[in-house]
Amino acid sequence: MGRLFLLTLEGHVYSCKYCRTHLALADDILSRSFHCRHGKAYLLDNVVNVTDGEKEERIMITGLHTVVDIFCVSCGSIVGWKYEAAHEKSQKYKEGKFILERFKILGPDGSNYSIAQEAHIGGSDGDDA
Ligand SMILES: [Zn+2]
Repeated sequence: MGRLFLLTLEGHVYSCKYCRTHLALADDILSRSFHCRHGKAYLLDNVVNVTDGEKEERIMITGLHTVVDIFCVSCGSIVGWKYEAAHEKSQKYKEGKFILERFKILGPDGSNYSIAQEAHIGGSDGDDA
């Protein structure tokens, strides 16, 4: 089916830890204070080079959300999720926004993220701090 078409971003780019496909720009980060089961996660306005998984209802710290997992188009690894809908009024700002798990991505300087740094956070399944 031909080769994958990948968008290339310029600037401070976050990329897939496994295949270095560009995923997002630091400028698009709305919040760095989200958590997932692997530690830190970022809320972003825009993410590229990902495919959506199945829609599902997920209960998070801040209530029930309809989300889809997002996968790197190049290597297929899961990199985070997207909020399709929030059921709590106070959480509506997240609709249409993306979460990238910091553990799954490389920072603009190529830095990897170690779970050990955030070991005190615990195992909650994502959402606000
Ligand atoms: Zn990848």
